[in-house]
Amino acid sequence: MSTLDRYYNYIDGAWAGADNYLTIDDPATGEVYAEIAEADIHDADAAMTAARRCVDSGALNAGRPAQRVTWLLAIAEEIRALAEEAALVLCRENGKALSVARGEFEESARYFEYYAGMADKIEGNSIPLGDDYVDFTSYEPMGVSVQIVPWNFPPSICARSLAPALAAGNAVVIKSPEISPLAMTFLMTACERSGMPKGAVNLLCGKGSVIGAHLVKHVEANQIVFTGSVPTGQRILHDAAERATPSVMELGGKSAAIVHADANIEQVINSVKAGIFFNAGQVCSAMSRLLVHHSRVGEVIKRIRELAESLSIGPGIDDPDLTPLISHDQLEQVEAMCRRAITAGATCLTGGGRISGTNGYFMQPTLFTDVTIDSEIFQKEVFGPVLVIHPFDTEDDAVELANGTEFGLVAGVFDTRLERALRTAQRLRGGQIFINEWFAGGVETPFGGVGLSGFGREKGQEALYNYVQTRNIAIRVKGA
Ligand code: NAD
Repeated sequence: MSTLDRYYNYIDGAWAGADNYLTIDDPATGEVYAEIAEADIHDADAAMTAARRCVDSGALNAGRPAQRVTWLLAIAEEIRALAEEAALVLCRENGKALSVARGEFEESARYFEYYAGMADKIEGNSIPLGDDYVDFTSYEPMGVSVQIVPWNFPPSICARSLAPALAAGNAVVIKSPEISPLAMTFLMTACERSGMPKGAVNLLCGKGSVIGAHLVKHVEANQIVFTGSVPTGQRILHDAAERATPSVMELGGKSAAIVHADANIEQVINSVKAGIFFNAGQVCSAMSRLLVHHSRVGEVIKRIRELAESLSIGPGIDDPDLTPLISHDQLEQVEAMCRRAITAGATCLTGGGRISGTNGYFMQPTLFTDVTIDSEIFQKEVFGPVLVIHPFDTEDDAVELANGTEFGLVAGVFDTRLERALRTAQRLRGGQIFINEWFAGGVETPFGGVGLSGFGREKGQEALYNYVQTRNIAIRVKGA
């Protein structure tokens, strides 16, 4: 019998074991300490059948929508009750700082509260067609929503899609990320305790190429909500095309902040700290490029270098500024990108490699300058604590540099001249633009990308409409 902490899948209202278990290690030490049942194709079919049965039973939609409000509020309450225990699990499996892990569960609870507030306000229109007709629209649930989650913020990204899907009356089958699936199981406990019907929510952990691909192509899938990397998103879009399954794609980014000549330097430094070192830079909307007006470059580089070299680094449980990367593979990939940047002629101001003397997956905070615009380090997502700093002369140059990648997730502008800041912001490519604070916004503000960063919006009122489809009913009430 295994001595590892053991976790299970959640299918049709019950916890399910498996023949095979995937092991989970602690990124701060490299030690394997837990395992989770690996779902196979039969488990995936069972989850999809349960979700379909739940949809067809009418249990989620037949009554008044106020019932869904009650369930969602109960889930939020249960998440808060479980949050401390769950945050410790997330901190250990993912490597992230304990305060960040706690914040994820608070944000998860907020998603359920926020969409609870909308669940009984999903109203259609009446369309005037003259005296002979009555015509109205209604928003119908999609049916079974398949949701595929990445490893960087597993509970909060899961809650971000699950809460609006349930608010709109869908049943959901979730695939957790195989390297950080444990803390997400607490969301299932919260759903279970809320009294929702069996089959409304199901959670499977398994390999993306096996059960992820199976779910995407499944005959019962009415929708795919994917958050993850560009190559996987492209693969899923191909697979979804077979059945013309509607999809939401939340993909990667290479987001730039523009620092104008009149920027407030303290705002810039605080935002760099959050923008690229929070969660060890493993954030889709990380500030991975900083474009600085040439008159401020010397000062900005000096301050950011001091910042990078003063960060506290350690295991998530100590709540330091910088935590380990998720895995050994991720560490190797980030290091390899830094090596290629140096070979291509970039200047590495600080960092550039792993932190030695530990079995944990710690990467040094890293700053690059003297990069060329077409270089890999300027164009591609690193997903680590690696920032590129590049000068510009004019606002037009800054906008061209910021918009000059295939991505378009977020962007930012720092300037005390708000008129110019707003004008620059309106010229930037991306679903969410920050002015004077990176990551400004919350569960209430729509989020999503253009270009290779994907399409569709999560968060905010708008996201609810990902999870419904419009039906129009036209009635001839008079005449022949
Ligand atoms: P990934 O694409 O490797 O994996 C994401 C999920 O897809 C995992 O659960 C994986 O098992 C599954 N998967 C893999 N192959 C599959 C297939 N063929 N069919 C179905 N599912 C499959 O991404 P990751 O490494 O977990 O996450 C990091 C990436 O996610 C980064 O690129 C980051 O920018 C992006 N991301 C985007 C957002 C956003 O909101 N835009 C948020 C977080 C992360």
